[in-house]
Amino acid sequence: MDNVITVADEVRSAFAGELIGPADPGYDQARRVHNGLIDKRPALIARCHTVPDVADAVRIGREQASEISVRGGGHGVAGLAVTDGGLMIDLAPMKGIRVDPGRLTVWAQAGVTWKELNRAAAGHGLATTGGVVSSTGIAGLTLGGGEGWLMGKYGLTIDNLRNVEVVTADGQTIRASAQENADLFWALRGGGGNFGVATSFEYQAHPVSTIHGGLVVHPISRARDALACYRDLTSSAPDELTVYFNMFADAAAPRDKYVAMAACHCGDPATAEADLKPLRQFGPPVSEDIKAMPYPVMNTLSDAGYPRGALNYWKSAFLRELSDGALDAMTEALHRCPSPMSGLGIVPYLGAVSRVEPTATAFAHRAPGYSLLIVSQWLDCSDTDVNIAWARETFEQLRPYLAHRQYLNNLPADDGRVARDLWGVNYERLVSVKRRYDPDNAFRLNHNINPGAGEAAR
Ligand SMILES: Cc1cc2nc3c(=O)[nH]c(=O)nc-3n(C[C@H](O)[C@H](O)[C@H](O)COP(=O)(O)OP(=O)(O)OC[C@H]3O[C@@H](n4cnc5c(N)ncnc54)[C@H](O)[C@@H]3O)c2cc1C
Repeated sequence: MDNVITVADEVRSAFAGELIGPADPGYDQARRVHNGLIDKRPALIARCHTVPDVADAVRIGREQASEISVRGGGHGVAGLAVTDGGLMIDLAPMKGIRVDPGRLTVWAQAGVTWKELNRAAAGHGLATTGGVVSSTGIAGLTLGGGEGWLMGKYGLTIDNLRNVEVVTADGQTIRASAQENADLFWALRGGGGNFGVATSFEYQAHPVSTIHGGLVVHPISRARDALACYRDLTSSAPDELTVYFNMFADAAAPRDKYVAMAACHCGDPATAEADLKPLRQFGPPVSEDIKAMPYPVMNTLSDAGYPRGALNYWKSAFLRELSDGALDAMTEALHRCPSPMSGLGIVPYLGAVSRVEPTATAFAHRAPGYSLLIVSQWLDCSDTDVNIAWARETFEQLRPYLAHRQYLNNLPADDGRVARDLWGVNYERLVSVKRRYDPDNAFRLNHNINPGAGEAAR
């Protein structure tokens, strides 16, 4: 039976959003997130429109709910945005965006997606680092770090964050920036949803409008040569050029496997031609489509590969180096992959992202190198076990090539006990910030920093 959360009449009448219980219309729609594998039933969903709504929801959750979940864009593959039996604070209706072309900033509320933010900023010839699939929410992505096409030049999303407004566990609304609550601001940049409900973010933006980007695809038989090309290209690339390396099957003809290099150059068009030349010269490709396009369009090129409602299980890792051995293990994994929607992707941590000190923000993974994402994605729930097993086995087979590090935003729910892999050198400081802002661990439905952890942190 569903749990019951009672909301006082005066709170209900002041609430600007919707309070949705299991018997209400819209409940099933509201509890669904991007990952179709997630099927949880909150006792109550508080769809917030205003910051006071969020503060009320936190108070209701603390007084009555077994647990609180927080939903931004709903893309977290772990599905921790939804609770089973508790209160889900849904920020999706909070869509405010303001671009200040004079100060080169973009302010956005926590329900905004990257598509919405990119389009608003592009209207002023501006952009900032954000997710490469446009339907991803800004909130969860930002709090976990934020990889994207501009990371070589401008760093992670958190490196462009100027301030955050947060409703804390005691229902207070505060701001965190380099000047105000600086310890909280440090923790919010990579510490995930541990410290409160972020209601809005202000980002530094940059004059980026047209970029040169797209995809070059090669048959899997050329994988080793393509990797060598990728290694050379990324190790000598200017900051303006970010290139991902992907391995995938042809969804229409699953036996056909490919490697692809996806590039985005945000610099001068004349320089872009020269910088992209090695990518174009390596060939012949199966297909090549690199051209000038608006930055928001670049951020939709991968959308079709990640349909809403598909079932997902991901594993995150960092590669010690781009070795032939790692590539062979990845190729072998792709060949035995049960779903044509799955694949493996490499994201370079080079340029600006790797020039930030590991302790400057809560996000510790600043060593030059590569992040690896194992994406297991399928449509039929009867295929779930085999697809989850593939991701886990692939991770185990790649283990000899992996560093002890993981990216919080790409983790599945069952990788929650890897705090040291997630935060490394910053873990103790994060525990002490957690003790200060959420000593009761009210916000624990996340990759959790336990305020009671380790005496060493005291
Ligand atoms: C198709 C796809 C593409 C992706 N592409 C990228 C990419 O290019 N770069 C990248 O870095 N990551 C990427 N990711 C991973 C992405 O960063 C995470 O899934 C992130 O959690 C998404 O944020 P969200 O707000 O949409 O998710 P949600 O599921 O809503 O949130 C995830 C978690 O973040 C916390 N949270 C969310 N909002 C708040 C808030 N306002 N206050 C406090 N806590 C909050 C909660 O703990 C929540 O469980 C991608 C994921 C998917 C599914």
